Amino acid sequence: MKTAVWYTSTFVVIFVYLYCYLVQFIRGAEIRPQHLQPLLRSRLAAPLQQQQQPVAFPYPVAGGWPLASGSQHPAQQRHLPPLPPPPPPSEVFSDYMGPGSMAVSSSMSVSSAASAPVQVPPSVSAAPATSSAAAKPLDFSYHNYEDMTTWLKQFSASNPDLTALYSIGKSVQGRDLWVMVVSSSPFQHMKGKPDVKYVANIHGNEAVSREMALHLIQHLVKSYREDAYIRWLLDQTRIHILPSLNPDGFEVAREGTCTGGQGRYNARGFDLNRNFPDYFKQNTKRLQPETEAYKEWIAKIQFTLSAGLHAGALVASYPFDNTPNSVYQAFAPTPSQTPDDDVFHHLATLYARNHATMYQGVACKPGSPSFPNGTTNGAAWYPLTGGAQDYSYVWTGTMEITVEMACCKYPPAAELPLHWSEHRQALVRFVGEAHRGVRGFVTDGNGRPLENVAMKIKGRDAPFQTTKHGEYWRILLPGYYRIEAYKEGYEPVEDDFSVTDHHATQVNLTLFKQVDSKNAFGALDEVSNYYSLSPGDERPNKRQPTISNKQDVPHPTGLTGLLITLRSQMDNLFTNLFG
Ligand SMILES: [Zn+2]
Repeated sequence: MKTAVWYTSTFVVIFVYLYCYLVQFIRGAEIRPQHLQPLLRSRLAAPLQQQQQPVAFPYPVAGGWPLASGSQHPAQQRHLPPLPPPPPPSEVFSDYMGPGSMAVSSSMSVSSAASAPVQVPPSVSAAPATSSAAAKPLDFSYHNYEDMTTWLKQFSASNPDLTALYSIGKSVQGRDLWVMVVSSSPFQHMKGKPDVKYVANIHGNEAVSREMALHLIQHLVKSYREDAYIRWLLDQTRIHILPSLNPDGFEVAREGTCTGGQGRYNARGFDLNRNFPDYFKQNTKRLQPETEAYKEWIAKIQFTLSAGLHAGALVASYPFDNTPNSVYQAFAPTPSQTPDDDVFHHLATLYARNHATMYQGVACKPGSPSFPNGTTNGAAWYPLTGGAQDYSYVWTGTMEITVEMACCKYPPAAELPLHWSEHRQALVRFVGEAHRGVRGFVTDGNGRPLENVAMKIKGRDAPFQTTKHGEYWRILLPGYYRIEAYKEGYEPVEDDFSVTDHHATQVNLTLFKQVDSKNAFGALDEVSNYYSLSPGDERPNKRQPTISNKQDVPHPTGLTGLLITLRSQMDNLFTNLFG
């Protein structure tokens, strides 16, 4: 009898596993060959609400609205900006290539794209008055919400020329989700220059990331006048630092707790880094206020480069975090590569090599994974659904990596100076990578900026779009490329360019209106063929966005539901182990 039960159980387990694997394999095989085509199609035809709507500065700011200094006439930006000082002798990363001047490979008239400096919306009001007390130097201790808020307000009030503090919304328990902009133009977008972000403490108990973010704010501001590289960086970039996306979780986490889940989740028990729409799988988890605020934020500001700061391991991880074959992945993880895999690998490597020890890839403890060169593809480590990193890349075109900053999630405060000294250079150098690759303006035949132009680097089916000022940025490694621009009603345009070390290449494009319906249809056919759409696909202008609709798909039943259950159990296994 016992033997029969044993055989039956074994058979059932094997059958379920094989069945799940087979179905996943088939689903994956359907998706894999052109798995980014739906993305491209959706981005080409995305409705306005899905598009980027960058604005000058959409949030109330502590301390009012001083005059901005950064906006420039785009034509002026074709002049070489000041060269950054050479990086210090790079004993830790000989391959480091600092940001540099622009090379104009192609330019057309953009004179009328240059409007007056972007004005702050008149309806925007200042945040609550800040204390006039000078900010105390940030000490190496943990700062709860009250302490952090006080310090941020005092620090921004003390440094109005280099900082601006704003809140993107509130947590479940009503705590502000503060963002500090550090830049020589803190209150206004600098036309043509990139915005970068760091987002820390999305997991409330990964507290070391929160303190590293605060120290980065102080370091950038304090170094502006003494450090020529940081001065160049702040003159050319706006750096948005969000020290805590989960302030409620932090309040219940405990110092000295290196593992576990207390404080990881928001006040309703949701893991915020599993709460975003997912490219590969539908995510049925209810959207949380923190996630909603975050999504709104990155829809308003076009970020070129980003990093999420976590803890629980020591590694720089890059997209994709998810994969079409997640059940199989859980047993034999393999990389889930993006079309920009080379760039992501470079960004993660650059961070790891500029950290004191990350690149050594030493395991945190016996039995935990070690990462060659201190980097990993997210899904190759363990796949997850609903992460912020994949969302930023797929939905907003932002190059985002995840940095696991320390093996201990909430180390004793006495260890904070060490962590800061290890991460300081990496956090600063990473921002400079926003100045690598290609950037420019897209205008119409009259020189007016064109918004929401679908852009693509040929051979990389990961589209991005222009801002309301017609700007775009794309990080690329040195090489030869072709850029494509498409907007409904205009003739598509392509241009060749090269990217070199130490140079961001500026490529400005002009799109001319299609003259009649016959030509328009011809152009559309051309575009359809160009993007390798299958014959059954609708024309670009009739396509429906697939990504935004994903959230509305009914909850799966049957086998798909089983897969998701199995999958979430696998996720849970990893959840409390790592960041
Ligand atoms: Zn984490």
